[in-house]
Amino acid sequence: METNLNSGAKPLDPGRFGEFGGRYIPETLMNAVLEVEEGYRYYKDDPEFQAEVTKMLNEYAGRPSLLTYAPRLTEKLGGAKIYLKREDLNHTGSHKINNVIGQALLAKRLGKTRLIAETGAGQHGVATATVAAYLGMDCDVYMGREDTKRQALNVYRMKLLGATVHPVDSGTATLKDAVNAAMREWTRNVADTHYLIGSVMGPAPFPEMVRDFQSIISKEARAQILEAEGRLPSAVIACVGGGSNAMGAFYNFIPDEGVRLIGCEAAGRGADTFETAATITTGSVGIFHGMKSLFCQDENGQIAPVYSISAGLDYPGIGPEHAMLNASGRAEYVPVTDDEAVDAFELLSRTEGIIPAIESAHAVAHAVKIAGEFGPDENIIINISGRGDKDVAAIGRYRGEDLYDE
Ligand SMILES: *Cc1c(COP(=O)(O)O)cnc(C)c1O
Repeated sequence: METNLNSGAKPLDPGRFGEFGGRYIPETLMNAVLEVEEGYRYYKDDPEFQAEVTKMLNEYAGRPSLLTYAPRLTEKLGGAKIYLKREDLNHTGSHKINNVIGQALLAKRLGKTRLIAETGAGQHGVATATVAAYLGMDCDVYMGREDTKRQALNVYRMKLLGATVHPVDSGTATLKDAVNAAMREWTRNVADTHYLIGSVMGPAPFPEMVRDFQSIISKEARAQILEAEGRLPSAVIACVGGGSNAMGAFYNFIPDEGVRLIGCEAAGRGADTFETAATITTGSVGIFHGMKSLFCQDENGQIAPVYSISAGLDYPGIGPEHAMLNASGRAEYVPVTDDEAVDAFELLSRTEGIIPAIESAHAVAHAVKIAGEFGPDENIIINISGRGDKDVAAIGRYRGEDLYDE
């Protein structure tokens, strides 16, 4: 396919999650990716680097994030006590900054002066532009032309932060095309540039590295719930686009066998329609964007167009570690429709005074469905991956209210 950069490339052993993952990239990218791999292996265990990451997470992003008990939602659903992991309270309004801080500090250590990133809804682009400004680095963001129109406010935010936004016209002019453009740009400027991938996807070591930077979510949440309840949660629920907030929320609970890990995919208008982004429910094994994983694709292996009300969840693939957790049965993946997510968006706003990102509302929607399966002495954690200010106008439109937003 025109957009597939992997033709002729060979998988290498590192970075496998079962049969998934790997590093399916053209020769022109190999040196750049290997430099990241070596750098990450080295700095991962370097206490000075880890201290620098922690300091910036605490003093710039605002960590640790709260674990908030949700009494009115709990009462309404009747079942497990509901706790919310508040990634919405981070600087720039989502979990994305955890990964951006880690990779940007690594890039600096590797002598890079420029960050490039892909973005769909603009959230990852904004987080990258923010950290680039703070660290005095140059920043170029690749964004599908269609997305630049739908997310004009975020395009301007990135400009304010000093980044240059490059609209991408190839393919469907959306997120997957922006990833291709960013990879192509990286092959042209590997010496001074780091490609800051925004989710647990792409060639090794990105899925593992992004997961490690996001695992702070479950590291904190595990200690916080033990402190609050004296016991582990019965379930951890998170939405899944590429899968970074979910991997971060799951990771430190994986050895705790009694903790159900549940990923919520965007089903759009329904997993049985063509207007969906439910990769695990409807997808099949393929190789794309440097990794072997599950993708929404047609019978010829062409990546299928995906749809969700949530721009942050409409990626046609999923990170390879999720594909493995699904195959092994350690995590469960469920589809959640637009309608269910919008209902949950309103429910959390009214019951708890917390307006979640529409992405996160997918996780809330599933908690609504299953909370009653648990006893009142049990608890479940919903990862609130981001705040919903960005979605207010779209939800208004969905409900037939004409709000002016651009
Ligand atoms: C980008 C985004 C997501 C989806 O990305 P993952 O890598 O699956 O976490 C979910 N929630 C919010 C708020 C986002 O900005």
